[in-house]
Formats: sequence, structure tokens, C-alpha cells
Amino acid sequence: MPELPELEVVRDVLQARVGGRVVERVTLSGRGGPIVARDLTGGSFAETLSGAQIGTIQRRGKFMVFDLLPATDLHLVVNPKLTGRFQLALPGAKKAGPVHVTLHFGDPEEELRYVDQKRMGQLYLTTDLAKVPTYSDMGPDALDISQEEFVARLRRFRGEIKGVLAREKLVAGIGNAYADEILWVARIHPYRKRTELTSEEIEALYAAMRETLLDSIDEVREAMGEDVHLKPRDFFAVHMRGGESCPRCGGKVSEITARGKITNFCRSCQPGGLIRGM
Ligand SMILES: [Zn+2]
Repeated sequence: MPELPELEVVRDVLQARVGGRVVERVTLSGRGGPIVARDLTGGSFAETLSGAQIGTIQRRGKFMVFDLLPATDLHLVVNPKLTGRFQLALPGAKKAGPVHVTLHFGDPEEELRYVDQKRMGQLYLTTDLAKVPTYSDMGPDALDISQEEFVARLRRFRGEIKGVLAREKLVAGIGNAYADEILWVARIHPYRKRTELTSEEIEALYAAMRETLLDSIDEVREAMGEDVHLKPRDFFAVHMRGGESCPRCGGKVSEITARGKITNFCRSCQPGGLIRGM
């Protein structure tokens, strides 16, 4: 569920709060089955991570990459998938959900927890990012790609534009929720085929992608503060707002569920497309 805007703000907060701090020890809690916390360097996850200092933290697509010092090439890579999130807390503070991995810091005492309701996320320690599953498959980050490159890459993908936009191989960082928001801003029906979009529409899509992501980062930053476990989405125009009024035209926001994923859009602002699931 966390997508680019949330993870971008989480990155900034974590960099400020735990960047430079030394991990005193690591706790793995395997209640209900083990989370994927794997040490690809061949050691034990908790041992390799203990004693390391957190260096630069980067977000790439929906991955978070922590550089670990004093090594020059050791990273903690977190792929929170649909349900993972971080929590910064004092020891003993209320858990934001089932905690699977805890990084304990010393004076002042604080914890960075990895919380995951459904144990879908993955954490890796590695000196080689290419060894992290799906990491190398990612296309350019959605905030880094130029319009020219976006247009060129898009040509390789067919199918419905919403699904295409959420493909990490096209651009990294956009999932089910922000794809709905971006398409609403671009006024493009989510189920239209990529191959039927005009070049004007594709340009509008690129502009909407940047605008939506950048505006959302501001909204998330405002609402999240330093509570990195929160997932502020009150500002969404259509996603999860089925049946409500479209903020642009006042029409009713449609909702279609397919393959377990909800799609919301406005039929008047985003015309066309096959009417599916009805
Ligand atoms: Zn509308």
C-alpha cells in the first residue's frame, strides 16, 4: 500500500531521525510465521545489522534502501509491499500493528519497527542490490523520468492504461491508489487501452503523474508529521471514494473491483473505456 508519496516522506523523516545512529541490537519476532528478513551476505540478519551505523537512506520506487556504515557497500533493503510500514517509537510504546523486526538504538533510546499486518513485505541485507528480488526489474523512478523517456518506455506496454501505469517495469513508485488519482487528474478512463491514447493524452498523463505525486508528497508530509506509520489519504479525489461526489464535476465516483483491486474514477470527467464488471 505505501506508494511513492508516502515513502518519500517516510524517507525524509527516517533520514532525520535515525540517519547517523548506530543500531545497538536487532530483534526478529516470528509470531504467526516468519517475515522475510534475509541476510544475503551469508551471515545472520540480526548479527550483520547490529553495530552498523545508518548512513544515507534512499527511496527507489517502492523500495527503501539504507546504507549501513562503516561498510561501503552494505545495505538494508526494505520492500514493504502492500501491508508493510515503519514505526518510530519509544520502547514499550503502543505497536502500530504486528512488529516483525525492531532496530534498537541507544541513548536516547528509540526503536525503528517494521510492522506488517499480512507479512507480505521483505527485508534484505546485501552488498549487491541486484540480488534483491525484483529490484533490478524496476524502471526509472516516477519522479526521475523525463517526458521523452516516459513516452518512449510506454510504447513497450499494451493493455489498460491503469494497469500499465502501475507496472514497476514502466516507472517505479505508482500502485493501485495513486494510479487512480493520476488518471483522474489526466481525465483518462482507467480501462482505456494504452494503444488508443493520443500523444496529447500521453503528455497529459505524464504531467498529471508529476503533479499528483508532487502535490501528494506535500499533503502526506503535512498529515504525517513524524508519525511514519500513518498512511494519510484523506486528500484523495477518487480513490476509495466510490459513490461520493467527484470534486471536479460533482458527478458520482464509480467503483469497480477486479482481481481484488478497487478502481475508482469519474465517468463524466474520464469518458470512454469498456464498462467492465457490470
Ligand atoms: Zn468528474
